[in-house]
Amino acid sequence: MIRRRHWFSWARHSVVILGISMASLLSAVEDPLSGDRERMVREQIEMRGIHDAELLRVLRVTPRHLFVPSINRAMAYADRPVPIGYRATISQPYVVAWMTELLDPQKTDRVLEIGTGSGYQAAVLAQLAKSVYTMEIVPELARSAREILNELGYRNVTVRQGDGYGGWPDEAPFEKIMVTAAPPELPRALLDQLAHGGRLVAPVGRGMSQQLTVVDKDAHGRIRRRPVGDVLFVPLR
Ligand code: SAH
Repeated sequence: MIRRRHWFSWARHSVVILGISMASLLSAVEDPLSGDRERMVREQIEMRGIHDAELLRVLRVTPRHLFVPSINRAMAYADRPVPIGYRATISQPYVVAWMTELLDPQKTDRVLEIGTGSGYQAAVLAQLAKSVYTMEIVPELARSAREILNELGYRNVTVRQGDGYGGWPDEAPFEKIMVTAAPPELPRALLDQLAHGGRLVAPVGRGMSQQLTVVDKDAHGRIRRRPVGDVLFVPLR
């Protein structure tokens, strides 16, 4: 009896082992870069101190390489920003993770992003928030981001081509706002479009001297800002 139970539990175990390896085999066939992505999350993000389980899960499943032009695809999971044309870059993976952690998106949040670029940051936010409104000034980038986000099925993202300095007044207020290009000063319109109790994360400054800045608006509408580190983004035009 005891021996038989042993055998059963061993058999169950081996099925599970087989199940896992079959699953990863299948996912490797469907998505040949899943191993690179796993390594990116472990070595560039987890090991640098980002531990939010839901954020890590989202970074593990979002196909970053599909947001990078095919000519630069080999660099998609490297520890650096990657050019996407039109003087823009997709941010370094760690910076995407860090800014997302700072923004702290919730399932009930409507998020405004300024600087759609490739659409990758919007895709990450879409999986953590209720909806994402994202603005891009370069028409070609707005179009390609809209296409890939649509193709991959992120239905709660709306891309608008236009100048993000003025924000998106007809959809305001937003619980969260992320700016992924650097203005010299925080744009007034974006502060106005932040909901009470909301948070904005933006690089602020000129040239090589930019500070990643977290702005909180309290329940009375009072603003408190704090710099959290040096960064380097393309300027907000
Ligand atoms: N979040 C992007 C990276 C953005 S790079 C990603 O995940 O790939 C910064 C982007 O901001 C560029 O695409 C640039 O064209 C855009 N940008 C610059 N000035 C802008 C403005 N005034 N309004 C909207 N987008 C702007």
